[in-house]
Amino acid sequence: MATPLNQINNGGMIGRMARVGGCLSECIFCQIASSSSTSTTLLHSDDKVVAFRDINPSAFRHYLVIPKQHIPTVKNLQRSPEDFSLVSHMLDVGKSLLHRDAPQSKHYRFGFHQPPFNSVDHLHLHCLALPFTPSWRFIKYSSLGPLGGFIGFIEAEKLLERIKPRVPHPSSM
Ligand SMILES: [Zn+2]
Ligand SMILES: [Zn+2]
Repeated sequence: MATPLNQINNGGMIGRMARVGGCLSECIFCQIASSSSTSTTLLHSDDKVVAFRDINPSAFRHYLVIPKQHIPTVKNLQRSPEDFSLVSHMLDVGKSLLHRDAPQSKHYRFGFHQPPFNSVDHLHLHCLALPFTPSWRFIKYSSLGPLGGFIGFIEAEKLLERIKPRVPHPSSM
């Protein structure tokens, strides 16, 4: 017996909707953020972001903080109050988790990989409590590339400077 035509159409429609609706079926970080990935323990969750352990840690403590909203990379962030406060919030969450879980660490690092050096196309803040393990992993989380610019990795504070909304300076006129 042939498959009824309406079933074929439904299948096609659902497939298209999943694509248009974003990354629900394909993006691993969206699955984690929506708690549909049961294998990931969330260290923090609020209405804007979630945090969890990096699956392949590069330091004594290595967490990721991601927005619940699917923002692909730092290139998609705007110089706007919304994006600035989102990244500030991600950094605050990462800092408080590391200060809680690695209070004895002397050095911390917070930042983002820039395309094409990012591993997953869903914005994620790397939060590292040093030392790096193994120590050569520092290369992956350092902002100095061969040309000395923000190649590969950009520290969160530098990104915040970049997307900080311009405020008018009444006194400078
Ligand atoms: Zn996503
Ligand atoms: Zn990354």
